Order: sequence, then structure tokens, then C-alpha cells
Amino acid sequence: MTSILIIYTGGTIGMVESEDQKTLVPFNLEHILSHVPELKKLDVILEAHSFDKPIDSSDIQPHHWTELGTIISSRYGDFDGFVILHGSDTLAYTASALSYMLNGLSKPVILTGSQLPIGMIRTDARENLITAVQIASQQINDEPVVQEVAVYFEDHLYRGNRVKKLSTEAFEAFFSPNYPVLAQAGVNINFDYPELLPKTELPFRLIDGFDNRVVTLTLFPGISEALVKTILSNTQVRGLILLTFGAGNGPSALWFIDMLTKAIDRGLVVINITQCAMGQVEQGKYETSTGLLQAGVISGGDMTMEAAITKLMFLLGQSEDSTWVKEQMVTNIRGELSTN
Ligand code: ASP
Repeated sequence: MTSILIIYTGGTIGMVESEDQKTLVPFNLEHILSHVPELKKLDVILEAHSFDKPIDSSDIQPHHWTELGTIISSRYGDFDGFVILHGSDTLAYTASALSYMLNGLSKPVILTGSQLPIGMIRTDARENLITAVQIASQQINDEPVVQEVAVYFEDHLYRGNRVKKLSTEAFEAFFSPNYPVLAQAGVNINFDYPELLPKTELPFRLIDGFDNRVVTLTLFPGISEALVKTILSNTQVRGLILLTFGAGNGPSALWFIDMLTKAIDRGLVVINITQCAMGQVEQGKYETSTGLLQAGVISGGDMTMEAAITKLMFLLGQSEDSTWVKEQMVTNIRGELSTN
């Protein structure tokens, strides 16, 4: 029998109505498990661990990623896989952050949650939880099928650092804009084996440390020089995610390119991520991105904003050397970036 550790962080899946019945508030793990007696019927040894105080995922902070990473690394040898119950709002950030932290991962770490609390009649929580546990326990020749951080929601398994929250309403809350679905659950769970990360030769090691001195700047027609100056002249900021138009384009105004050039020369790491839901940045394709390229802006390729910002925080947390950080940003380290 395989053994799985369920880690409960909070989120809608375990929420109940507050006393005044006006808001949803996090509740405890026993409440969740009591609604899924079927878990006992699975051929899996289950253990559960809860955050001391379950939270809405909008309250997630990098120290919670550290807590998750530490739980997984301290129990790594005891379990064949891990299922993390997490709110959907910031799940894409946590999945990305964990993918970078869990170096040499050769076991499944599956994040899931739900759009309706587990106590509600039409809830999507039960199916998400049961299937996430089943996926985490799948093995072939005593090897886990999934050996990476992944997200399971409404019939689909996705690479964790490729997802974005898609809908506040639909049970299909996530999508993976630039990478195929890893598995589809219907009558059977069908894996797309070639798309899964291959087995790593590296020993498992937790790498921790995030630098939150980063900021995102969303471009829009009419963005003011004064606003851009406030952000780019702030010497506390080490990294900037520039959310650009189309294939990575921005205003060609001299003041804009000049300010970027000076900030980058000072050591700021600037990453170009498109505002488009799908596709990738191609700096130099249009004249309106040539200035960005010449200023030293680094292309984020087809990374999601969530994958890019957590990667930037992670790399800045590992090194003071901005040249190394830039090199790593354009390197595919955990399947977050397509390189051809
Ligand atoms: N606000 C909730 C959270 O992210 C939403 C959810 O779980 O779906 O914790």
C-alpha cells in the first residue's frame, strides 16, 4: 500500500459559514475528513497534518511556503506522496514556489482545493480530494507516476508552475495556458506520460529563502512618467515583473526606455511577461519591444506571471548576483518555461 500525507492549509474546501452567516471562514481538518468517508476505502495509508491556523489563501505569505516545504522535507522518507489542500486564490503562486523549493523531487506533491465548501450539497471538494489522493498514490514498477509539483482540479492534472486561476465561478477553476494537461480523470485516470517531468537523478533537498523586494508593473495606454519613476527609482526594489502588451511590447517613449536602462544599469532585474492569457514574449519581434531588449529587459518567455514572480523571489533569495539571477530566469529549472 502506498502512503500519502494530506496537508491542510485552509481555503474554501474546509470553510464553513461564520456565525452571522455572511462570510466563509476556514474550519478544521476533521470537518473535511468527516465528509469523505470514502477515503478509508482507498488502498492507501493516509495521515493528515493541518496548519495550526487554517487560512484563506489570500493570506498566504512566503513563510507559509517555508512551512509547507519543511513539512514535506521532514516527512519525505515516510510517505510516497503528498496532497496539499489550499485555497484556489493564490494556489498558482504556492504551486510555483514549491516547485522551485523542492529540488530533486521524485514524489508527487499534488495541490487541490474546491470552489464550494466540502459541506455543501453540490460541492466539488470531495471529487477533487479523492482523485488527488488517487493520483498521488499511482505507481508503476514501484515508482510514482507523478514526480513533480502538480495541481488537480475538476478532472484535470496540471503542472503546478504552469497554472493560472481561470474562474471565480466554474468548477474548472484553473487552466494551463502554455503547457498540456498532465492527466485527465474520467472513468479512468489517463496520464499524458511524455508531458510529465522525467525522473531526476538529483537527491531531494529543500532550498528555502524568498526575497520579497519585487514588484509588478502593469503597462496601460496613458501610464504616467511620474508613476513609472516612483517604481523604478525605488532602490529597495531588486526585481520587477513588467506586464507588457502582446508579444512583450511597451511604449517606445524615450523617457520610458531611459528610466528602464538606468534602473537596470543600477542592478534592477526586469522581466518581461505578457498581459495576454496565452502565448509568449518575443522581444525584438516588434519595434515596440526592441527598446526593452536594448535596455536590458529579460524575456520571461511563456512563463505565467505567478511562475515568474515566485521564481524571481526565489532566485533573489539565493543570490546577490543579478547576472546569475538573469541567467537563471531564462533557464528552464522545473518545467516552468518552454525553451524552444
Ligand atoms: N478565498 C478562497 C481561498 O483562496 C477561495 C478558494 O479557496 O477557492 O482561500
